[in-house]
Amino acid sequence: MPTRQPRRAPLAGAGRLAVLDPATGEAFDEAPDQSPDEVDAVVDRARAAWCGWRADPVARTTALLAAADAVEAAGADLAPLLTREQGKPLAESSAEVARTAARLRYFATLDPGPRPITDGRPVRSEVRWRPLGPVAAIVPWNFPLQLAAAKFAPALAAGNTMVLKPSPFTPLATRLLGSVLSAALPEGVLTIVTGREPLGARLVSHPGIRHVTFTGSIPTGRAVAEGAAASLARVTLELGGNDAAILLEDVEVDRIADRLFWAAFRNCGQVCMAVKRVYAPARLYSQVVEALAQRARSVVVGAGLDPGTQLGPVNNGPQLARVERYTARALADGARAAAGGHRLDRPGYFFAPTVLVDVPPDSPVVTEEQFGPVLPVLPYEDLDDAVEAANDTGFGLGGSVWGSDLDRAEAVADRLECGTAWINHHAELSLAQPFAGTKESGVGVAGGPWGLYGNLSPFVVHRPEEA
Ligand code: NAD
Repeated sequence: MPTRQPRRAPLAGAGRLAVLDPATGEAFDEAPDQSPDEVDAVVDRARAAWCGWRADPVARTTALLAAADAVEAAGADLAPLLTREQGKPLAESSAEVARTAARLRYFATLDPGPRPITDGRPVRSEVRWRPLGPVAAIVPWNFPLQLAAAKFAPALAAGNTMVLKPSPFTPLATRLLGSVLSAALPEGVLTIVTGREPLGARLVSHPGIRHVTFTGSIPTGRAVAEGAAASLARVTLELGGNDAAILLEDVEVDRIADRLFWAAFRNCGQVCMAVKRVYAPARLYSQVVEALAQRARSVVVGAGLDPGTQLGPVNNGPQLARVERYTARALADGARAAAGGHRLDRPGYFFAPTVLVDVPPDSPVVTEEQFGPVLPVLPYEDLDDAVEAANDTGFGLGGSVWGSDLDRAEAVADRLECGTAWINHHAELSLAQPFAGTKESGVGVAGGPWGLYGNLSPFVVHRPEEA
């Protein structure tokens, strides 16, 4: 394996990228705006590093465990920087750093092991697992570190190398993470590139890339799949969601209201599997609306670095404009804001936590992905109608059912067309479970051993018992 040399993420290409603090809307730092022409050299380095990295699983485990320790040790630098560029409260950034380290530890010790095939023939066949080669990873701005780790931890543990591109809105914490990891990983094993499009497009269509793993929106996911088709690289896509939460007649509203509220508003609603629409029994509708609206009105909104802040700003200007557009359209369509409904009158990308009632079911805030602090609550008379409405979408990421009779809730959850369904919770994930969107929410499986296999190729040795 090559010697370990501390180094920084690649430095400036053609230009610089201004990085804005969403709490002020002003630039506070910059990152390299790398030219797509740099991709050839970066992928070449990833391929060169692959030879050593793939050869020694024991050294890999040691390096990845050391990398996890290094991430934890750098938490006091990583977390504030993440908050500054992403907007989330500092405690949430610290939790994200901890999850980044936890992912490295989890995958570092997962062993795919060989598997014999016994089917009665006089043959000793065995499935062994081989890495794929250089992997390209592209991630969005909502959880820059943890989503990057969800890519590099399984890919590197499997023996691949990686070129990772964060969102141009949040390049800084990822670059710092890259330099922290470089103290533990050999040169070229993980390279961070930053810049505007078409940097990502060039990366995913590069002929030297053997797996493209992308997290982001459905339209970009389609473009990424088209780009990767050029070299027929494997594609894993973790895409958008429009998760429904269905409340049942026996739900105890006061008991679940906090959990339901935060399942929708955590990280300012910028979570792929946030609750993005609520279906409540008509009899409980006003109680549910008031419970959510009361929390929306009282939550402390502010800069993520301010002590006491519970909800930060929206991450960026275009996303704020999208949230405003969906809300204005819903209000124009006849909806009413039980809380919020507007931008906050202060610098930065702040939007008042918003609960919408009387929303037409075909309003885009219900049918599309708002990805912000805006929650439509819809009444239903017949549970079958609520399940049908929850499933009547091209999205299929997650969903949840809330009620006191857990068996009944589980029976309803079983009818949801999505990759994960929760009961009385939403978006609680374990590192050991598979993570996969159905329908247009994803292609392939991340998480748990499935995430490791997603970065491996089966290699079968077929050997007769006699010569
Ligand atoms: P986005 O699709 O706009 O961008 C995602 C990334 O793709 C960014 O790094 C961007 O620079 C890059 N990109 C843009 N065009 C590209 C191209 N042609 N080729 C290659 N890369 C390109 O998404 P976003 O606005 O950054 O993030 C929000 C979306 O991400 C939401 O839809 C959300 O649901 C989704 N998301 C999904 C998951 C999941 O696990 N399913 C997790 C988090 C976020």
